[in-house]
Amino acid sequence: PTVLREVIIEVPEVHWDDIGGYDSIKQELREIVEWPMKYRHYFDELGVEPPKGILLFGPPGVGKTLFAKAVATESGANFIAVRGPELLSKWVGESEKAVREVFKKARMAAPCVIFFDEIDSIAPARGTRLGDSGVTDRIVNQLLAEMDGIGTLKNVVVMAATNRPDILDPALLRPGRFDRVIYVPPPDFKARVEIFKVHTKKIKLADDVNIEELAKRTEGYTGADIAALVREAAMLALREVIREGKVKPVSMRHFEEALKRVPPSLTPE
Ligand code: ATP
Repeated sequence: PTVLREVIIEVPEVHWDDIGGYDSIKQELREIVEWPMKYRHYFDELGVEPPKGILLFGPPGVGKTLFAKAVATESGANFIAVRGPELLSKWVGESEKAVREVFKKARMAAPCVIFFDEIDSIAPARGTRLGDSGVTDRIVNQLLAEMDGIGTLKNVVVMAATNRPDILDPALLRPGRFDRVIYVPPPDFKARVEIFKVHTKKIKLADDVNIEELAKRTEGYTGADIAALVREAAMLALREVIREGKVKPVSMRHFEEALKRVPPSLTPE
């Protein structure tokens, strides 16, 4: 039994413009990932060591996966996504083998971004583990060994995401490992305006749709929630269009109704 049936190499199509808001995170990622890939020789000549691994943390749905994909797209790299839980296996040796396989494929597909989502599931700190911790220990060790070896293979960037940085094994955060940690917060008003713009770009909107007003009323909504809200409003409009057999745009009352149906996923805590 193999843990990962196959390692899928993607060519992502997410551009910086597809992510609303978060300008400073975009800029930071550009500098720490795109630059080392594009201008490796300048880094070498100046003796600057780029970060090896980047950890994104923040609540679910704020766009961590989108950031990782955009990094790959914008630096012309391939993309391999691995969900932490996929690596877990009760078969001795299989999980480590899967980790080795991921890095091997990434080296072959370089330049390549490897993205470990839900990394907390494979790398919880000692003491917080329930049941058998052998397998997570072995996965962490294999991961660290692969990352330590990356110095020689340069064009592979390792990114990871978690909602629970507090339960991560601190060994992962040492220099030369995930040595850059970036917090992706829930979107503020300005980011929500931009996220609404991204998700309504292709949608026919009525003149009464006020994006600033919508952004004001969506405190606690993540990017994923806003995407769902727009989809809901559009579906409500579509139902009317089909019922009436005549095309009209999505209007503010559709958004009003959608706001009642799609709640925010975040609370003030
Ligand atoms: P999880 O922790 O649940 O994996 P995540 O932080 O990785 O969540 P994504 O999967 O990247 O979140 O985002 C889910 C969807 O929400 C995206 O595909 C996109 O449609 C939308 N979304 C999230 N953030 C943004 C954003 N800043 N701009 C545009 N769309 C966004």
